[in-house]
Amino acid sequence: MTQYKKSQYNIEVEKLGSLIIYNTYSCKLIELDSIEYHYWMDDVSQLPDETINWLIQNRFLVVKGINETVQLFDEMLKSCINQKKSFFRILTTTGCNADCTYCFEREFPRKIMDEETANSVADFITDKSKQYKTIGLGWFGGEPLLNKEVISLIIYKLKNQNSDKNIYSTITTNGSLFDSTIIEAAKEWNVTNIQITLDGTEKRHDMIKRYKSKKYGFKQTIDNIKILVKSGFKITIRINYSEQDIIDTLKLIDYVYCELKNTVKVYCSPLFIMGSVEELEISSAIESIILKKMIDYSYINPEIILKRRKITCGLASYSDYMVIDPNGIIYKCCEAMVRPDLSKIGDIRGGELDESIIERWKQPTVDSNCLKCECLPLCLGGCKCTRLGISSMKCFRYKTQIKNIIQYISEQTSVR
Ligand code: SF4
Ligand code: SF4
Ligand code: SF4
Repeated sequence: MTQYKKSQYNIEVEKLGSLIIYNTYSCKLIELDSIEYHYWMDDVSQLPDETINWLIQNRFLVVKGINETVQLFDEMLKSCINQKKSFFRILTTTGCNADCTYCFEREFPRKIMDEETANSVADFITDKSKQYKTIGLGWFGGEPLLNKEVISLIIYKLKNQNSDKNIYSTITTNGSLFDSTIIEAAKEWNVTNIQITLDGTEKRHDMIKRYKSKKYGFKQTIDNIKILVKSGFKITIRINYSEQDIIDTLKLIDYVYCELKNTVKVYCSPLFIMGSVEELEISSAIESIILKKMIDYSYINPEIILKRRKITCGLASYSDYMVIDPNGIIYKCCEAMVRPDLSKIGDIRGGELDESIIERWKQPTVDSNCLKCECLPLCLGGCKCTRLGISSMKCFRYKTQIKNIIQYISEQTSVR
């Protein structure tokens, strides 16, 4: 046993008369009874051989000389190389029929993609996707459906140029503009998921969204979601919340469940601040209240929260993930467009892409706190955009809840 040490990625949760340990690297859980707990604390070699072997196999005990963080990052960089598809988030416009108080694009000049640029976008995507069997497209804005013509144009051209490939789309939208024409078009666009944001219950949502026309608003968005679900689209509702509006957020989650049950996916996201490096803190109590409700409604699977991340950002860390703005300028991340010096990598009309910036977005950025943190396998240092000092939410979202989640899982499942 002398050659082994306890993993730095063990999280221990004491229970009455036992100890639960979760390893964030292997994502395994063990519950030790009171005697095993005692051995674990005082002399691991006293544990039965079978238990010791299991602890070694599942990384609770690791060889003394090993650097677990180096191993973690090596595996992460391998995952970056194993990219299976290309993915392009395309801003058809920076304009919007809403004017959300928090919109990071409010300060941007209004730009709309024209036909010529759309043609070049399709050519660029075809060129960049030669080695992939799948091309993913994420329609984004502003409100992307304000310029649906370029979506149809790009899809039509891509289908012609890539008849041997699987092409799919996602849309991030405020959900207000769907009508029968757009719903039919969305089928042609091979839409697999539509993400729609709700900012609160009716009064609050409409106060934040500040639609320019009274025909749009909360109720009409909910009606559209119901029509989209009936039409067979997968819908993800993102609920934005802030600490001050917790009561309204809880009411909204209840309302969504009452109206839509589990026909939609739902997640809650704290509103974070762009252009600031301050850490955003939502109190642990508030996070736990929201988390409990989301688990009760089966909108969150706690086991998924505790899964190890294979890559820093499932989007921006891959080489052939790109954001294309309405003028055809290419970035690594939408939120980082405010800092072209850190995120602009090229132009669809030609020229080499900036490999040094692409490489920077692959690498994890961690600070001394991360190197000591047992959550590192779950977050790999957090959102890259934040780490570059562009937005405000640094840490693993559920860091304050992790012991509660471990305890919850141990009660639901039979642990070793
Ligand atoms: S709906 Fe989206 S794009 Fe439109 S103003 Fe709100 S945050 Fe900005
Ligand atoms: S970002 Fe926060 S939660 Fe993630 S490893 Fe660093 S300190 Fe831990
Ligand atoms: S904002 Fe953060 S998590 Fe989102 S794409 Fe950019 S780097 Fe990734």
